[in-house]
Amino acid sequence: MEVVDLSQVLWSDMPVYHGDAQFQCTSTFLLPGGITTQYIGCSSHHGTHIDAPYHFFEDGETVEQLPLSDFIGPVIVVDVTDKAPRQRIMWSDIEHYEERIRLGASQGALVFFRTGWSKYWLSQEYSGHPFLDKGIAEKLIEFGIQAMGIDTFSPDETPVYDLGGTTKDYGVHQTFLGAGAIIAENLTNLEAIQDGDWTVCLAPLKILGCDASPVRAMAWKRGTA
Ligand SMILES: [Zn+2]
Repeated sequence: MEVVDLSQVLWSDMPVYHGDAQFQCTSTFLLPGGITTQYIGCSSHHGTHIDAPYHFFEDGETVEQLPLSDFIGPVIVVDVTDKAPRQRIMWSDIEHYEERIRLGASQGALVFFRTGWSKYWLSQEYSGHPFLDKGIAEKLIEFGIQAMGIDTFSPDETPVYDLGGTTKDYGVHQTFLGAGAIIAENLTNLEAIQDGDWTVCLAPLKILGCDASPVRAMAWKRGTA
């Protein structure tokens, strides 16, 4: 069975969202016989991960409270690779997907947005990704979508922190997490699943009371598992 890896590699020099800690994986002790044990130091938002409602809402669900069924299902990959850096993507740009999204929602589909920005993962340009207008999140929720994903730091604009970082608009996070739905960020390889019928899995670690969790995002052709 062909399984497509949709996750970035977790390592100490990988990019992190402004202000976040660096990832670490270090040796703790060596048991006799060369048996290794390591310590993993990880933010809940490192690398490819999912955001739970608690990330924005004190009374929202944490990762271990969400049903696993929210994280597995057929995927619709919305192609927005024609967008410019920091361009706001409007519902009108993608409304030709409406029928597929409506039908997909009735089958428990997840909706992924492929900006193509994962190719900038290790460069400065990664923060300057196009982003979604809140209106898109409102439509997805209206249609009954429980999970969305994107190949950038965030579905909302990532502020230019070096210039003062004035952007405080988290409309997509607020709308989606506020409806009890989840968001996956820093996905990669979405070009591999753009066409055809794919099932994806984004299952988070079962961490008590956590707002988000790194995931090993993957996809396989529907009907092969
Ligand atoms: Zn996040």
